[in-house]
Amino acid sequence: MGGAFKIGRFSGIDVKVHWTFFLLLAFFAFIGYQASGSPLGALTATVTIVALFLCVLLHEFGHSLVAQRLGIEIHSITLLPIGGVSNLESLPEKPADEVKISVAGPLVSVVLALIFFGVGLLLGAVPRVPTDLFAGFGSVGQFFFYLGYLNVVLAVFNLLPAFPLDGGRILRGLLATRLGAVRATRVSSTIGQVFAAAFFLIGLLSGDILLALVAVFIFFGASGEAQMVKQRELTRGLTVSDVMGTKPRTETVTPDYTFGQVLDSVIHGYQEDFPVLDDGKLVGMLTRNEIMTAAHSPEKYSRVRDLMKTNVPTISSQADLFEDGIRILQQSGLGALPVTENAELVGMLTLEDVAQASLLRPLSATEDVSGIDDGATSQKTASR
Ligand SMILES: [Zn+2]
Repeated sequence: MGGAFKIGRFSGIDVKVHWTFFLLLAFFAFIGYQASGSPLGALTATVTIVALFLCVLLHEFGHSLVAQRLGIEIHSITLLPIGGVSNLESLPEKPADEVKISVAGPLVSVVLALIFFGVGLLLGAVPRVPTDLFAGFGSVGQFFFYLGYLNVVLAVFNLLPAFPLDGGRILRGLLATRLGAVRATRVSSTIGQVFAAAFFLIGLLSGDILLALVAVFIFFGASGEAQMVKQRELTRGLTVSDVMGTKPRTETVTPDYTFGQVLDSVIHGYQEDFPVLDDGKLVGMLTRNEIMTAAHSPEKYSRVRDLMKTNVPTISSQADLFEDGIRILQQSGLGALPVTENAELVGMLTLEDVAQASLLRPLSATEDVSGIDDGATSQKTASR
């Protein structure tokens, strides 16, 4: 995410803050000052927001650490004015894993709430719903009690079945066991968008701009992820034969071709690498690199036989494109692999083929959006 900078690292996960977060701090410092008329009010409001975002960060770590345990890599957690975002390498494949990851965040918030309520009461807080954030808390105990309250709100809001909030992810995970990933995502993202529209209206009507912003975030998050899951399903199980250049479209050469003939093919054709066939049997590959090297000293290489690479790895037409195709291509260091079926050449798989298929596939990291309520709720509290 652009505009975010790193403030720390824990368990291999970068913690980042988006610069707009400081606008939020300044905004609440201002509100706090206005409401109380003293710098202490500004300080109280700022400390509250920072404490709240530390809770959001712990909520996100709840998601991220469980995801890590389930074998998903986490790049970073970013704090935005509307909440925290965990940046996952990939979406969990198993519905049960998604449910576990999604539950972990709100669970952390509930535990934090209990701890803060306990600390607050021990310090003599009066148990009541706080209404006077910017007039000061009266006591340190009341401040902890208020933090407990905010964590309850954090857990409850995130458990709403408004995909991509945690509750929506839990719903999707539960639906996916029956409906499959694509339909489950479609159903939950539709519900998410209905919630988003409602939040947006409520936000506008009550003047709660942050809630309206959160609504926009949910709306586009829902449709974006539905699209991504659909693509993932579309490209799942692609085999080499689905994207390779077939034999009729692949120009081959024989070991007896002269260098001049091959150079002509490279210059006038689209192909850069050529399978070498001897009596119909694959004996090697002639790559663009060798052709270009030979172009400098054509007298040394008169025939393809002298130029070609032998012992070239091949790939089966039925091999998985992303699992095996990319791996073998990378290991070979070649731009193209001969594709075989029963030891016979049936086509050629090039880096371009893989790249084109990748365009259909969501290779980029996906974002798990959660804990995004806090700003909105704090503001509501402030205006109450
Ligand atoms: Zn969450």
